[in-house]
Amino acid sequence: MSEAVRRGLLAHQPSDLIGGRFLALQTSAVAGSSELVASHDPAHPAVEVWSAAAEHSHVDLAVKSAQAAGRGWIDAGQVFRRAALMRWRDLVTSNEDRIARLITLETGKTLAESRLEAKALADKVSITLEAQSTSRVSGFDFAVNPTRRGICAFRPHGVMAVFGPFNFPAHLPNGHFVPALLTGNTVIFKPSERTPAVGQLLAELADLAAFPPGVFNVISGGPQVAAKLSDHPDIDGILFTGSWITGRRILAANLDRPGRMIALEMGGSNAAIVCGDCHLKQAVIECVRSAFATAGQRCSCTRRIIVDASIADTFIALFAKVASTLLIGSGDSEEPNFMGPLISSAARESVLAFQSRKVREGAVSILPTTTLDREGWFLTPGVLRVQRFDAMTDEEVFGPLVQIAVASDDQDAIAQANASQFGLAAAIFTASEERWQRISPHIRAGCINWNVGTAGASSRLPFGGLGRSGNNRPAGALSLDYCAAPIAQLEERTDAVTLPQGMRPF
Ligand code: NAD
Repeated sequence: MSEAVRRGLLAHQPSDLIGGRFLALQTSAVAGSSELVASHDPAHPAVEVWSAAAEHSHVDLAVKSAQAAGRGWIDAGQVFRRAALMRWRDLVTSNEDRIARLITLETGKTLAESRLEAKALADKVSITLEAQSTSRVSGFDFAVNPTRRGICAFRPHGVMAVFGPFNFPAHLPNGHFVPALLTGNTVIFKPSERTPAVGQLLAELADLAAFPPGVFNVISGGPQVAAKLSDHPDIDGILFTGSWITGRRILAANLDRPGRMIALEMGGSNAAIVCGDCHLKQAVIECVRSAFATAGQRCSCTRRIIVDASIADTFIALFAKVASTLLIGSGDSEEPNFMGPLISSAARESVLAFQSRKVREGAVSILPTTTLDREGWFLTPGVLRVQRFDAMTDEEVFGPLVQIAVASDDQDAIAQANASQFGLAAAIFTASEERWQRISPHIRAGCINWNVGTAGASSRLPFGGLGRSGNNRPAGALSLDYCAAPIAQLEERTDAVTLPQGMRPF
């Protein structure tokens, strides 16, 4: 029996939700027609949370059922769809504790963090249903002349494939499918292969919310199922949150489909600029929090710090001291842990390999990230001091390792902050509003904070980035924009027609 079922966190054995029915998955994979997907508790890797053979054939089934449900879902109208989403909001609210516990079991995040994520699901529905949000896709009309009206209407794209990352396995896919459903699209959600149990819990709650069959489908799978779905000829859009490397694959698979809506929310190599006049304690707390939140596994984590030469030694010493005292442990422990383990052994190895490579290339290890002498994929916070940041060698390191470089002045700080192929989040720490106003317009990022670390965002603001971080379809408050397409309509009174020049009366 799956651990998630044994603990009462899931009602069904591993299965996909397609066309309003749960289809049970086999336990062993057959090459070419299925792939094994399994998740483990990162704090106790011997505990297998969920395991099944994901069915390739479920991709076609899900697409067909989402297509078949599309017309009825559009015709049902917005009032009906709002009511369904309000049932969804009630269910995710009444199941908040269960959602949070399963997130912690499958990702290793602290329960406090998982509770915030679980609460964000209902908040997203509320914000999406507000007039301020819906007005973005409610259109407008005007009189072209006394008999003719011009109308801008918005239409759903059709069948939307939603792909989620492991680090926010409930909140981020929810951030895509709530606006998609409200605007009349039908959805096929493919959760991360590292968090299939959370994906299935969302399927079970969607079933209780009684969306019409086929409107909301959930299929498990790894890279093979994902590739089959994102390359499927009969889907109309892809709403993706994940890494640049996967986002690139999606773009490559869809080069011949310019009309397909593709919204990409990808990674970051986020910079914090720490100016000489900053409030030191504030800068240290916010930079440490943002570098190591969720064990460095947030897209918005601070990866690079650029500190002014005048305070560099003091800042780096204090930063490393605070980082070295963070409490680390199981997400569900009674201790007030700051961070839990990484998602997998491979994730941990890649952070350690990056650290070794950087040191070989000349970086100074101020605080080495190391494994803990206990079970679980834990890593301690790490700090590297590098000479300068360089866009050619920049990459996203998804773990608790931050790099620090020194800037000679504000211009140098701006140049180093922008020395990245990514452009998701940035932070500027200075006591001077004039300095913040002077520096911020020159920072290439989609989310830029003053005296607030890069990690953390408001759902009432757009969330997205530039370069390899996104393709200008920000999520958050603007997510309705990519879920509906504007259509231009001209409407003429039935009897109002003028004979064009050169046409004979008849
Ligand atoms: P990932 O790219 O490995 O996987 C994300 C999803 O893509 C998974 O569901 C995976 O199965 C799916 N996938 C795999 N191959 C695919 C294909 N060919 N077509 C379509 N989907 C495919 O990402 P991850 O490791 O789960 O998450 C971490 C990454 O996500 C980091 O890079 C992080 O910065 C980024 N992220 C970005 C945001 C944001 O809002 N910008 C938020 C969270 C995480």
